[in-house]
Amino acid sequence: MGGLGSGGHNRRHRGAVEAHRRLSANSMAKHGVFSEGWSGRWGWTGGDGETNSWIWVVGGRDEIRLDFRFRESGGDWQPVDQTVTLTRVPKPFGNDQPYFFCPRCGCRALHLYGAQQRFLCRKCSGLVHASTRERQSDRATRQAHKIRRRLGAELGIDDPAFRPKHMRQTTYEKLHTRLEQKEAESWDDMLLLLQRLQTSAGRTSTRRSRTPSPCRRRSAFW
Ligand SMILES: [Zn+2]
Repeated sequence: MGGLGSGGHNRRHRGAVEAHRRLSANSMAKHGVFSEGWSGRWGWTGGDGETNSWIWVVGGRDEIRLDFRFRESGGDWQPVDQTVTLTRVPKPFGNDQPYFFCPRCGCRALHLYGAQQRFLCRKCSGLVHASTRERQSDRATRQAHKIRRRLGAELGIDDPAFRPKHMRQTTYEKLHTRLEQKEAESWDDMLLLLQRLQTSAGRTSTRRSRTPSPCRRRSAFW
C-alpha cells in the first residue's frame, strides 16, 4: 500500500495546493479509472521523474475507493480506506465532465488533495493557490510592471512613463493613474514589511538583553 504525508503535511501549515498530492477527475477519467472493473496504482512522481508515492485505487462509474496510508509529520502511519462519490455534468458537445463530490463538504470538485487524512477539496483541505499567498507588494509590483510594459516604459519605480505615440490621451491618463496607484500600494506594503522587520529585530535584541515578562510575550503579534 502506498503512503502519503511523510513530509510537510503538518496540520497547522498546510500551505499551497502545489505542494500536495492531487487527484484530478479529468486525468483519472482519461486513464479509465471511472469505469467498472478498473483497479490499480495511482502515483505521483518527484522532481527526478521517479514515482515517489502512490495509492491503491478501485475504480468505478459512480464511486471509487482509495486505499493508502497516511501520517501527520513524524506520526505513525494510519491505514485509510476512503470512498469518493462521482458525478457527471453533460458538456455542450456531447461528452460528460466528471467531478468528485468532496467527502467533507459535498461540493463538486475537479481536484481532491491529499493534505489531510482523507482526500478533500481545496477549501476543506485548507489550501490556497501559491499566487494568492504572494504579498500585496508583489502583486502590486507585478500589475505595475504590466502597465509599464504596455506604455513601453522602463520597469523601475522612478523611471518616467510617457504616453506612447499611438495611445489616446484618455487611455494613457487612465493607465498612468493606475500605475501610480499600484506603485504606491507596492511602496506602502514594502514599508509596512520593513517596519515589522525593524520592530521584530528590536524585540529580539530586547529579549537578548533582558528576559521579557510573560505579558510582553503575549502582546507580541508574532
Ligand atoms: Zn470540501
